Amino acid sequence: MDRTILIIYTGGTIGSVQTVAGGLAPLDFSEIHRHVPELVQDHLTIETVSFESPIDSSDMSVEHWGTLADMIQSRYDEFDGFVILHGTDTLAYTASALSFMLEGLHKPIILTGSQLPIGLPRTDGRENLLSAVEIACAQRLNEPVIQEVAVYFGSSLYRGNRTHKASAESMRAIISPNLPPLAEAGVDIQFNDGILFRDPLMRLNIHEVMESRIAWMPLFPGQSSEIIKRVLDWPDIKGLVLSTFGSGNAPTNAELKALLSEADTRGVSVVNVSQCSHGAVHPERYATAHMLRDCGVIPGGDMTTEAALTKFMHCLGQGLKGDDLRNAMRSNLRGEITKFSPIMPGH
Ligand code: ASP
Repeated sequence: MDRTILIIYTGGTIGSVQTVAGGLAPLDFSEIHRHVPELVQDHLTIETVSFESPIDSSDMSVEHWGTLADMIQSRYDEFDGFVILHGTDTLAYTASALSFMLEGLHKPIILTGSQLPIGLPRTDGRENLLSAVEIACAQRLNEPVIQEVAVYFGSSLYRGNRTHKASAESMRAIISPNLPPLAEAGVDIQFNDGILFRDPLMRLNIHEVMESRIAWMPLFPGQSSEIIKRVLDWPDIKGLVLSTFGSGNAPTNAELKALLSEADTRGVSVVNVSQCSHGAVHPERYATAHMLRDCGVIPGGDMTTEAALTKFMHCLGQGLKGDDLRNAMRSNLRGEITKFSPIMPGH
């Protein structure tokens, strides 16, 4: 069966080649077939498009996410799937943001990158790119197997909004701490059919507005409440993601409690995510978490920080407030959160 894939190059290590002087220079992406000749296959048509000025992913912004969403929307009907080449540093944020921006997605959007430039002999970029393309081509009964934003890295395919960059060194730099891989690439690509996401909305609907006026703060023992006060005093603040201890615990500190209650009264929502890279926030489990619940803090379940931040930007960007915002943040919009048992009675 013939397939057409659009590869979008945003920048990052994967698209660099080594210069004679030993430094890295961006590759002319229209020449990608020269570096990865395996992309030329019967029954496969690949088109490539590059950001006008490719960026290190540290420079990724809401505007770039909007550009990617527009590129996908404007060419959605022309292609069977999309592969986005992206630096690894903020890949998990982009994958999470795109999952919320692209509602009603029924084609694969596969992000990948690499630790070593594609122009080096030991590069991981070649395998990552070729497998990402193969996954984007995969169909059963005339339907794409993957119909969501996903990340392929180091032989695994992950749900995009479940990913996190865990290593600056390893070829398996991207992990999905709270959800098993959607697929594993061994001799064959084995899909984990039971967990693939299907959006009930059948038509692609793009949401580009993201609220950037949010903050993210970790708690640590010995922390001064003053810094949290300063952040919450920011006149424009619309929301705060608070990284708490373990299963969602915070110090039993009257000052912190007063600050969070006051923020809640002012309509500044706070979302609780765990500092642990694996596991979830359980607001009912410890007395030290009850204070947060009593201050109206929204439990973020097992969302990664990347997913919580971008989901918050998306939900606030939709103009949601109060209970609507709380309900949206706790609901499973794109497979980013696992539903846990409801809060125990009496809590
Ligand atoms: N700094 C690079 C980036 O994220 C690293 C990489 O490409 O992996 O763009």
